[in-house]
Amino acid sequence: MIVKVLLPLNLNEPFDYKTDDEIKEGSLVEVPFGKEKTVGVVWQVNVASDLDDKKIRKIGKVLSYPPLSEAICKFVQFVAEYNMAPLGMVLKMVLSVKQVFGDAKMLKLYELSGKTLSEAKLKNSDARWRVIDFLKDGRVFARSEIALGAGVSDSVIKVMIESGILKEVLIENKKEFAQPICGFQKVKLNDEQQKAADYLCAKNGEGFGVTLLNGVTGSGKTEVYFEAVEKAFQAGKQVLILVPEIGLTSQWLGRFEKRFGVRPCEWHSALTPKERIDNWKAVINNEVKIIIGARSALFLPFADLGLIVVDESHDASFKQEDMVNYQGRDMAIVRAKYEQLHIILSTATPDLETICNVESGKYGEVKLQSRYAAAQMPEVKIIDLKKDKPVKGDWGKSWLAPSLCKKLQTNFDKGEQSVLFLNRRGYAPLVICRDCGYKIECPHCSAWLTEHLRIGKLVCHHCGYMTDIPKVCPNCQSEEGLSACGPGVERIAEEVKYRLPEARVKVLSSDFVTNFKEVQQVIKEMEEDKIDILVGTQILAKGHHFPELTLVGIVDADLGLMGSDLRAAERTYQLLSQVAGRAGRGVKKGEVYLQTLHPENAVLQALVKGNSDEFLELEKQTRRIMKMPPFGKLAAIIVSGSNKEITERTAIILGQAAFNCENITTLGPAPAPIFVLREKYRYRLLIKTAKNINIQDVIKQWLKRVKIPSNVRVETDIDPYSFY
Ligand code: ADP
Ligand code: ZN
Ligand code: ZN
Repeated sequence: MIVKVLLPLNLNEPFDYKTDDEIKEGSLVEVPFGKEKTVGVVWQVNVASDLDDKKIRKIGKVLSYPPLSEAICKFVQFVAEYNMAPLGMVLKMVLSVKQVFGDAKMLKLYELSGKTLSEAKLKNSDARWRVIDFLKDGRVFARSEIALGAGVSDSVIKVMIESGILKEVLIENKKEFAQPICGFQKVKLNDEQQKAADYLCAKNGEGFGVTLLNGVTGSGKTEVYFEAVEKAFQAGKQVLILVPEIGLTSQWLGRFEKRFGVRPCEWHSALTPKERIDNWKAVINNEVKIIIGARSALFLPFADLGLIVVDESHDASFKQEDMVNYQGRDMAIVRAKYEQLHIILSTATPDLETICNVESGKYGEVKLQSRYAAAQMPEVKIIDLKKDKPVKGDWGKSWLAPSLCKKLQTNFDKGEQSVLFLNRRGYAPLVICRDCGYKIECPHCSAWLTEHLRIGKLVCHHCGYMTDIPKVCPNCQSEEGLSACGPGVERIAEEVKYRLPEARVKVLSSDFVTNFKEVQQVIKEMEEDKIDILVGTQILAKGHHFPELTLVGIVDADLGLMGSDLRAAERTYQLLSQVAGRAGRGVKKGEVYLQTLHPENAVLQALVKGNSDEFLELEKQTRRIMKMPPFGKLAAIIVSGSNKEITERTAIILGQAAFNCENITTLGPAPAPIFVLREKYRYRLLIKTAKNINIQDVIKQWLKRVKIPSNVRVETDIDPYSFY
């Protein structure tokens, strides 16, 4: 029989192989490929091949894993087609742990062979009898365990092995996963929460469905969806909880452990190779039931998935822009559809796409409108920086309005915690020479280098290039000229330390220089009230619960509103309300101050009113007029290459070959905002179509019209989130 086997490589088509055996679709098989062997998936069986029979090679061994389900295979196919990615590259995300296909490390254990002591011509001894007693009823143990359990020395066991009384058993060395304990520490839900939980639980097992769990920050959404998780688990199903990469905090893990008695099985980029192997195997073999993971967990080969939860579902980090471009939240819904199961989107700030789907009845919705227990929503106020101007101090420039400084002081005097939020890493976003005007740029990108004082380096936030902070201007050699321009979190922390020398001030930033552990450490100190004022980037926005935090200052509320990005307003609204939502989650009420030069801005006004409906309505109108998603479809084409002329010419030819008609508009090419990235020149085109048009098809036809030189890369980003 001839079968098609899909390989996890940068290819769009499965290859033909032959086999003498019956083989199921979805089976994992080892096949020869070139001079190598590689593992692929049987994509189709019993096909007719156009190839000469002699050229078709034979399948090697069939791996002992259960075959991938039809649902996963269809899901892979869909992700590839929708996102215009090579099929093999999507499969690669499923078969992401190569080591699981190698020879499993075997564990050597021992059991009784049935041969008696006298048959073995061994004397009866107490020690030997203890070993026999320990292993009776068919028990198997490792040598060291037998020694320990029977209280004998290893030499006793050695003799018993050599004489054939103990028999070797080889078993796969794999991790045993502790199973969650239902009702381990159930919290008592309030009426609103209980109603929401009942609704979600009732959806379990009813086939495909999407529900938005829409609850204000601090309303207890996690506790509520844990009920549905438990219900699915009780029904013997696997559960996937997707969180933004950065949201997988020890705080979240701690809450899970408190509720279910065990640590959950995790899936994210910080796992060790051994953990990746163990967890992947446990998922496909249905040995682990609840998995918490970042977006890549969506591609795990679940054996029997019963529920998906997407926590902080509005979060832009679910969108992947690397290798295969996809929106993890949307693809999670697709997977739920193929697997015929319920999916919960949990957030305090739903995105417009989700809201429109609720309004059209495609998704269900449950709401939590009040904070849990005594906690109230914080009060949000605007500080107009044009009137309330920051005043210079001995240390130099200031970024904090006098009224905000006063609030910080009062809050510190009361012994309560404060947070200052600025979504900019490092000390200063730019270093400029005051003598000659030279700005220090990345040698590989068209971007300024950010000064990171803590590590004494200038860093490119786009490609990771790092260099020591120069002592003199690289252009005019001036020794006094270089000066930091604008603030980053380090610089704000510096100012706070000058202003409140007694306060304990820390920076929380998700740098490549600060690792996961350091971040966890700072969060822990904040929880334990060992920090008075925490200055942080967007990492602050994600789900943290600091009960003693009562004041939040947003240093630059205008940052993020500027870009040409279609989601700029929405994203700023979400980010700022998430940060604001950190305040006053305990008994004491919280206050939030937004520093801005544009107090009349609609996004900020909506934050002050705490009225997300009003904001969403406005955003909806704008996008409807512009025919932007979700009222139209959008895709970006990014053309890049190291030869500037050829890249530019290709982009221009693509622009000329584009379709333009009533329902299709193509814009560009234009040089990308970051024109040079990692030494590649970049041009962007944007295609916008009506909703009823298959945008993927249009792009396919379009790209077919142009011959792309081999040194130019053309990448498609369906429903783009970044426009750099
Ligand atoms: P959200 O995710 O909606 O912001 P959380 O689920 O983090 O809210 O809940 C906020 C805080 O309130 C958490 O510390 C949580 O443990 C607590 N909480 C919420 N609901 C309950 C409940 N029914 N019983 C006890 N504690 C609760
Ligand atoms: Zn760079
Ligand atoms: Zn200079």
